[in-house]
Amino acid sequence: MIQLGEQLIELGKFLHKNQYAKGSAGNLSVRLDSESILATPTNSSLGSLQIDRLSKLNMNGELIDGDRPSKEVPFHLAVYENSDANAVIHLHSTFLTALSCLKDLDPENVLRPVTPYVVMKAGEIPLIPYYKPGSVMIAKDIAKVADDHRAFLLANHGVVVTGSSIEHALQIFEELEESAKLFFILKGMNIRYLDSKDISELKMKS
Ligand SMILES: [Zn+2]
Repeated sequence: MIQLGEQLIELGKFLHKNQYAKGSAGNLSVRLDSESILATPTNSSLGSLQIDRLSKLNMNGELIDGDRPSKEVPFHLAVYENSDANAVIHLHSTFLTALSCLKDLDPENVLRPVTPYVVMKAGEIPLIPYYKPGSVMIAKDIAKVADDHRAFLLANHGVVVTGSSIEHALQIFEELEESAKLFFILKGMNIRYLDSKDISELKMKS
């Protein structure tokens, strides 16, 4: 538990230092075992987490140890209950959050691929409709798609990324944030998107 807690703290520092998380926005969690998770506390800054204040919860969301968890922890639990993920990153990072505010996103896949890596690392990224932060509806909608997706865009809010480890989730998050940045840099230009043949070739290899 200490080691995973330390990894979560290191992740928080990295995300804060790289300006992916500002103020008290964003929350992180990691699966400890089949019955418990460690999550970041409510109103905490990801840049200054403390090991003895991390929230240890059972799968019903009951606090076992540490401070009260983020009010967004229900969707973390929904991921762990409905997939084999071991880590969840939720951020309001600039480019993915900007993307989440656009109308007319494809609800099945919010980022039409322009480079292979987003396909290889994350696959399709469904849109979760807008709900008030902390709403149980976010958890309910994520529960339906958690098993076969690695990332979800929350409309007018931010992103949720899951991974087999903290490191894996971080790699996917960084790839997605860069892809969202490319989307805005390229907006209005004559883009060659990856076509269906390119995409099925990438899916075959993975
Ligand atoms: Zn949030």
